[in-house]
Amino acid sequence: MQTSENPVTSAESAAKQFLGFDPNNPPDPTLIDSCVHCGFCLSTCPSYRVIGKETDSPRGRIYLMDGVNEGEIPLSPATVQHFDSCLGCLACVTTCPSGVQYDKLIAATRPQIERNHSRPLPEKLLRQLIFSVFPYPDRMRVLLRPLGLYQKSGLQKLVRSLGFLKQISPQIAAMESVLPNISAGAFQDTIPALIPAQGQKRYRVGMILGCVQRLFNPAVNDATVRVLTANGCEIVVPQLQGCCGALSHHQGQEEQTKTFARQMIDAFADSNVDAILINASGCGHTLKEYAHILQDDPDYYEKAQEFVSKVKDVQEFLAAVGLTVKLSPLQDKPLVMVYQDACHMLHGQKISIQPRQLLKQIPGVQLREPIDAALCCGSAGVYNILHPDVAEELGRQKVENLTNTGAQLIASANIGCFVQISKHLQLQGKTVPVLHPMQLLDYSIQGIELQTESNNMLIG
Ligand code: SF4
Ligand code: SF4
Repeated sequence: MQTSENPVTSAESAAKQFLGFDPNNPPDPTLIDSCVHCGFCLSTCPSYRVIGKETDSPRGRIYLMDGVNEGEIPLSPATVQHFDSCLGCLACVTTCPSGVQYDKLIAATRPQIERNHSRPLPEKLLRQLIFSVFPYPDRMRVLLRPLGLYQKSGLQKLVRSLGFLKQISPQIAAMESVLPNISAGAFQDTIPALIPAQGQKRYRVGMILGCVQRLFNPAVNDATVRVLTANGCEIVVPQLQGCCGALSHHQGQEEQTKTFARQMIDAFADSNVDAILINASGCGHTLKEYAHILQDDPDYYEKAQEFVSKVKDVQEFLAAVGLTVKLSPLQDKPLVMVYQDACHMLHGQKISIQPRQLLKQIPGVQLREPIDAALCCGSAGVYNILHPDVAEELGRQKVENLTNTGAQLIASANIGCFVQISKHLQLQGKTVPVLHPMQLLDYSIQGIELQTESNNMLIG
């Protein structure tokens, strides 16, 4: 058979199409080589659990990173798809018996993709929308009024019942489906710059408000303030603080992450605090990574190290310094609850005992453990918007596992998990409330009882 293809032109075009990692911090071959391909990580990997392909497992992705590094595999759309399908949950880091630092490998891979791979236009536009709006509370607030109207007018119910958004774009439909109820507290920040401790001052702490947290569940920040002040903390809240950069960091938006990190460090520069506290685990993990994120910035590296030395999850902090205030039962009979481990708390920060310790101090609380407690709920920053199919399955499994414990209440310390679990509870027709441990401690400190009616818990 004759072909009109010119072999020279075809080789040139193949070379042009071959895109690999650039020399700017590719995944470290030494870290890649530390993987002995044992496969222990596969069973704990949520993307492998749902997709079922080796290339969507930690081991498979490490092979791909190696292949791209060696120039044997191109950074093609197919390759990128396997990196994109990673939730960044870091369960594989916890599981790996050889100590493979997959977190560092995927963190190096994502910016490479953003620099060297051209995404299809609709995906590019969606990502641009996310990164230019979500991490900016002021921009998000512009959208809140029309979104609130959309919810209250009944239009949301109609749109959901017709289900046509999914046909137009599964990602837009996913974004709509995780939209929490917009409360009056979402429209402006009300927490002042300095809040005195109640009683004797034990610590001066800084507090990070979180950009999604303050808009979509501001009650958690209010509760955190009350719990900290009741336990002798004076709180400093820099009013100009922005996003911590977690959203951008998890998606390889390197420059945006660095900008947010520098702004956050500057916001706390003169605060003279003993600790900088955060109540959302995704943010906490990124805040603790600032020194790594700014390692090549001579002006900020040392400042980042000092900042990181003070960052604590609020539960980590309170468990370490101890609660000094009296706690009351939340109801007049034992309260059965399940604590949901957020990935960036459990795998990213290795915090699992402290939240349970705090919750168990509330009289009458009985904690249950779900099966697959360490498996991601599918939220993973904006993963549930960008990859709705995988996220849906993980959300479904997580809610089944949590509710199968028979718990009356779910305690969750991450805004992303809160949104994802709430959505799937609703989809499964379950009315179990989801509350942050800070809200539970706050109720307990204030002596507020949670009411039950026909076995359903009512949060007033
Ligand atoms: S990452 Fe760790 S657990 Fe997974 S295959 Fe490699 S060595 Fe084994
Ligand atoms: S970070 Fe999570 S999703 Fe990604 S490879 Fe590891 S276990 Fe799988």
